[in-house]
Amino acid sequence: MSSFDVIVVGGGPAGLMAAGRAAELGGSVLLLEKMRQVGRKLLITGKGRCNITNDDPIGEFIKHIHPNGRFLRTAFSRFFSEDILDLLHRYGVETTLERGGRYFPTSNKSADILMALQKWVSEVNVEIRCGFRVEKLIIENNRIKGIQANGEVFPTDKIILATGGSSYPATGSNGEGYEFARKAGHTIEKVQPSLVPLETEGDVAQRLQGLNLKNVSAVVWVNGKKSAEDFGEMLFTHFGLSGPIILTLSRHVVDELHKSNNVEISVDLKPALDEQKLDLRLIRDLNEHGKKRVGNIFRYWLPATMVPVFIDLLGFDPEKECHQVSSTERKQIRFLLKNLRFKIINHRPFKEAIITAGGVSTNEMSSKTMESKLVSGLYFAGEIIDLDADTGGYNLQIAYSTGWLAGNSCMNSHDM
Ligand SMILES: Cc1cc2nc3c(=O)[nH]c(=O)nc-3n(C[C@H](O)[C@H](O)[C@H](O)COP(=O)(O)OP(=O)(O)OC[C@H]3O[C@@H](n4cnc5c(N)ncnc54)[C@H](O)[C@@H]3O)c2cc1C
Repeated sequence: MSSFDVIVVGGGPAGLMAAGRAAELGGSVLLLEKMRQVGRKLLITGKGRCNITNDDPIGEFIKHIHPNGRFLRTAFSRFFSEDILDLLHRYGVETTLERGGRYFPTSNKSADILMALQKWVSEVNVEIRCGFRVEKLIIENNRIKGIQANGEVFPTDKIILATGGSSYPATGSNGEGYEFARKAGHTIEKVQPSLVPLETEGDVAQRLQGLNLKNVSAVVWVNGKKSAEDFGEMLFTHFGLSGPIILTLSRHVVDELHKSNNVEISVDLKPALDEQKLDLRLIRDLNEHGKKRVGNIFRYWLPATMVPVFIDLLGFDPEKECHQVSSTERKQIRFLLKNLRFKIINHRPFKEAIITAGGVSTNEMSSKTMESKLVSGLYFAGEIIDLDADTGGYNLQIAYSTGWLAGNSCMNSHDM
């Protein structure tokens, strides 16, 4: 039976990078992917557009990574955003820089990213076998000896585990990689969904479903104390809240929901106006349109779908005329515009989470090589590691950089 220098488990961006780099350095590399094709998750990234990476410098980049972005300093210093962009450009992908430092393929097609990575790994002679589900790592005396997939044993002394996390399991990454690591003696930090939509109590969000708000700010409150804040875009859905700022805040919420049943999100619909300026604006509009129905004046302050919901929340009679609005009622309007509150009752499940928080503890692997400190010849790459990031292209860069470093280290064991 032929033996390989390196066997990579998982054909996501981390596995493809790892395999490509090891093969580029002359290794014989086998990549085993259990699905019928590689890169299923990559294809759905960025709503099919793929937010490839971000142009933040390393210092800023690692601030977006939890719980310990500094672990990635070496990986980023060896292979960073400009390197993945270079590689993609070499294989014909043009890229565009968008708001927030986000890079996308100019074609807006994630398939172009996958195709470029596939061309590269095929050119450097990585052998890919799809439909091969790895069942077990063969370890003797704390050394890798081989791997078993579909009942077949493949001898090797280097394995790169790049099986992803537990989110969107239909793409293939269903968390089974954690079991391989656990059986090898590794600690798995608590695995939970992150960048995940949130369910709210009551029917306010449901009544607003489909409404996308831009330039609002949202605050997470735990037991009445402010715990996190973000500014940008959000979306109401049939179950509650979603959209970029909610996904980012979900990291704090998921943790807190296990400890407290008093987690709320307040939305400030007028973040550019402080209380005083907002009050002046309300007084001006109410005076100018004294004879108008209150129901109509709200259109000046809110998107149309929000108006009936607001009127109900305030308990106003929509037929009332503006000049009849008392100063107490004006205060209520002001309060609600700056503080539309939702009690969070749950987060959505793994199958709707963009990313998995938790995973193989970084304490038990070398940040210089990605090799396990417990089992010689075992390396980790990508989302399986206890690292997760905000939206913005950061998560994919973690996959490329750790993949590249693991592949590189396998062929340069003296680097260790
Ligand atoms: C909807 C969505 C949108 C996203 N958009 C973005 C974005 O625009 N930008 C961004 O930076 N990040 C985005 N992400 C996150 C990004 O997709 C992940 O961070 C990235 O795919 C992780 O790469 P990976 O290679 O570690 O794991 P994965 O891409 O999950 O790949 C792991 C592979 O391992 C295989 N595998 C698992 N177990 C076995 C086994 N036992 N044997 C053989 N093979 C196995 C799986 O089938 C899978 O193909 C998005 C995620 C989702 C779900």
